Amino acid sequence: MNFSVTELKQFKVNQKEEEGSPESLIWDYPDFAKFVGKVKLSAEARLISENVLVTGQVSANLRFNCVKCLNEFEYYHQARFQQIYSFEGEIIDISNEVRESFLIDLPMHPVCNPNCKGVLPNQANQHNPSVLYSDELKSDPRWDALKKINKNKEK
Ligand SMILES: [Zn+2]
Repeated sequence: MNFSVTELKQFKVNQKEEEGSPESLIWDYPDFAKFVGKVKLSAEARLISENVLVTGQVSANLRFNCVKCLNEFEYYHQARFQQIYSFEGEIIDISNEVRESFLIDLPMHPVCNPNCKGVLPNQANQHNPSVLYSDELKSDPRWDALKKINKNKEK
């Protein structure tokens, strides 16, 4: 998203909204971020003496796998940003700020809900033997990465 310096000098404030694909607004994002639908962006640029203050928010629905129960769930992620720009040319481009603020507080250890108990041992055995669960399978090396994640979370 861009703001025109000429317009800002004339009107002092400019508000914009945009809806776009994750590729165009949050390009180059990590694999675990699975977007559902479009990314919404709204921003306001305000001329303050020799600078432009831009505030806004960016949001999208994402699909994650819960690190505890491994079930897929949908998550609404919203990030706010605020940045001061000085005039450098005619265009103020806020794309990097939008992208970084969105990515910086993506949940690293997504949990479907705060009370998630994970996969219960007897449930997994009875109904779906192929579903594994982190706490009980201490010897399975495939779970080392997940155990690490859980440990880091407890710190
Ligand atoms: Zn869960």
